[in-house]
Amino acid sequence: MHAIERYVRPGSLEEAAEILRAGNVTVLAGGTDLMPQTHAGRVKFQSVLMNVRRVPELRGIEEHGGVVRIGALVTITELRESALVRERLNVLWQACDHFASDQIRNAATLGGNVCNASPAGDTLVPLLALEARTVLASKPNGSLETRRIPLDKFFSGPGRTLKKPSELLAAIEVPLPPQGFVGEFYKHGTRPGLDISAISIAVGAQLKGKVLNEVRIAFGAVAPTPIRAPRAEAVLEGREADAATLEAAAQAALGEIHPISDVRASDWYRRELVRNMLKRVISHVGQL
Ligand SMILES: Cc1cc2nc3c(=O)[nH]c(=O)nc-3n(C[C@H](O)[C@H](O)[C@H](O)COP(=O)(O)OP(=O)(O)OC[C@H]3O[C@@H](n4cnc5c(N)ncnc54)[C@H](O)[C@@H]3O)c2cc1C
Repeated sequence: MHAIERYVRPGSLEEAAEILRAGNVTVLAGGTDLMPQTHAGRVKFQSVLMNVRRVPELRGIEEHGGVVRIGALVTITELRESALVRERLNVLWQACDHFASDQIRNAATLGGNVCNASPAGDTLVPLLALEARTVLASKPNGSLETRRIPLDKFFSGPGRTLKKPSELLAAIEVPLPPQGFVGEFYKHGTRPGLDISAISIAVGAQLKGKVLNEVRIAFGAVAPTPIRAPRAEAVLEGREADAATLEAAAQAALGEIHPISDVRASDWYRRELVRNMLKRVISHVGQL
């Protein structure tokens, strides 16, 4: 473990971005990933440890002009208690409801889940299905700048993202889904809540009668990053979720995933879960 030479607690986004610009900074939010990772020796602290919990611009859940902005510091508990999230981004709400324990949910932030970039991160899968984007803040030329990256382009491998070390994740923006959009999140672990997902699935669609439109399917823990499944989506688009369509969608999805075998599940078992559970989740969505 590297020695921490300085511990800082900026009080504004400007100040946090200025500290990041100087380099050699580890960002600390809830610490629920960072602390176990540093204790296990998998991650080394930089010389400056920056606790961002006093940065007010990283807080809050607000809707403006059809976009929900969720501050990076918003905790899983806050998401779970938000009426806006429950009513309009319900598939994300479901993932928060299946996330760890009360103690972890109270500390764990959405920004930490996104920046940790685990292929099994539970909020990433519904956020992909909701076509969310990241808002990154930095001070490259002395003044505060932001850039946005769609979440489906943000992850570059397990634990890796396109965020530069000089950038702070300020927020996640989620365009409000169309009226009538319904969704379901499914997570498979050995225990229902406290476990890291062996696989996870988020399905969203706009229902016209029983016909599925705007179909969005995302998976966790079946590839080096969380992924969308565009070929399975295309199979379902404009169709009813009958048995033949469900089987065709599941077969398409199997061609889009690249699961590994690890302590949580074998490659074979993950494929079986995807094939069976995707059909179940889609048929639930088709009846919502
Ligand atoms: C017992 C236990 C159970 C868990 N269960 C689940 C679960 O069910 N589902 C799940 O998905 N995860 C789970 N986790 C993992 C963890 O709780 C989440 O990933 C959590 O959201 C991380 O958020 P945090 O605020 O604690 O991040 P931190 O640990 O503070 O940070 C995580 C990483 O993100 C970086 N970072 C954080 N915020 C920012 C920012 N704003 N800008 C730039 N970089 C940033 C940090 O530098 C670090 O690299 C569990 C962890 C534990 C210990």
